[in-house]
Amino acid sequence: MSNRDFYESTTSPVKNNDRYRRASSLRGALICAVIFLAVILVSVFVISSNRERPAEDTGAITLDPTATYPYDTIPAETSPETVVTETTDLSFIGPPPALTEPDSASITVDNTQITRGDLILINGQHPYSFDIPEKQTVFYGNKSPCYKLSLASISIDSDLFPLFDQMMIDFSTATGCKDLLITSGYRTYEDQEEIMASRVASMGAEKAALYVANPGHSEHHSGLALDMVLFIGGRQYYFPEHEMGAWIIENAPKYGFILRYTEEMSALTGCAAEPWHYRYIGTPHAQLVTDLGLCYEQYVEYLYSFTWEEDRLFIAPDGTTTTGDGFHLPAEGHMVYYVPANMEADSTEILLPLGYDVYSVSGDNVGGFFVTVDLTSYAEPTVDAPVID
Ligand SMILES: [Zn+2]
Repeated sequence: MSNRDFYESTTSPVKNNDRYRRASSLRGALICAVIFLAVILVSVFVISSNRERPAEDTGAITLDPTATYPYDTIPAETSPETVVTETTDLSFIGPPPALTEPDSASITVDNTQITRGDLILINGQHPYSFDIPEKQTVFYGNKSPCYKLSLASISIDSDLFPLFDQMMIDFSTATGCKDLLITSGYRTYEDQEEIMASRVASMGAEKAALYVANPGHSEHHSGLALDMVLFIGGRQYYFPEHEMGAWIIENAPKYGFILRYTEEMSALTGCAAEPWHYRYIGTPHAQLVTDLGLCYEQYVEYLYSFTWEEDRLFIAPDGTTTTGDGFHLPAEGHMVYYVPANMEADSTEILLPLGYDVYSVSGDNVGGFFVTVDLTSYAEPTVDAPVID
């Protein structure tokens, strides 16, 4: 039986007697009052039980923020504001969205660039991607005469070449030493296969695995790594073994190079100590990695904690670091943050602070991009200001 059937079937027939009608009216009024009270009680129960329902149960009452509710019927421990917030969208309250974010520009980067850039992580778990060949420059015939080569064919990344050559000029000028010897630079996959085979033959597979990366997993494939020693008086010295090496150990980070494999970090890098192997990651990162005493694997993890939306990393010219939002950018140093790649698409939008011309974007070789902004490069944007009537 439907509700409509029920109400129709219980409607009283009209009586002729007045007394009976008055008594009937009184009884009717009483019944109405009881029903009214019952309705109020049920309403209160429904409102309070609705508040206790889980948020995903959306079949409940929706409170209208513009209406006046009998808040005194809601248990005192819950403020009216809380109840309204639970059931309505208050996002319209507050300043317009544009005022809640710092001014920004944006660029779109193809996701294939995740495997490219000075900050890519290359190790046993993260192979180098050979799909886009990098331009290499051969040292022989191009370099300054203040350092030596063990082979005429040694080359490094072309963008890196002038930076490294300048470091060698400065090293030679500061120390008078012209005995630094480059023993290895860029390597192809096949080069690495040959090196591995010869080391396995000379020292056995177990030891070779500690000193030679598997083909595809060597930093040398990127052209961003160099092996170098001192060759003095017919003898080879690693930098810590000779006083002339002190300058390289101290200054290489200022030029963007890190000592990649140390004894203490071998469990994390997967490589034994290699005092000859330097990797370019650029400035200001190389100095910060060195100052923090981290291996590069740890540094990459460290950088992941800085994003555009949350804290960004600020590296002052003296190497000290602070974190902060995008509203109060320091006038000097660098700002660094991580942008995870948009894997739903082929490219990723990267936000940049408006008005800063000098920045670099590097893939991490894992799944995103590191952005490094030179904070001294700010120039007043020439964008027309919006006209407000
Ligand atoms: Zn090496």
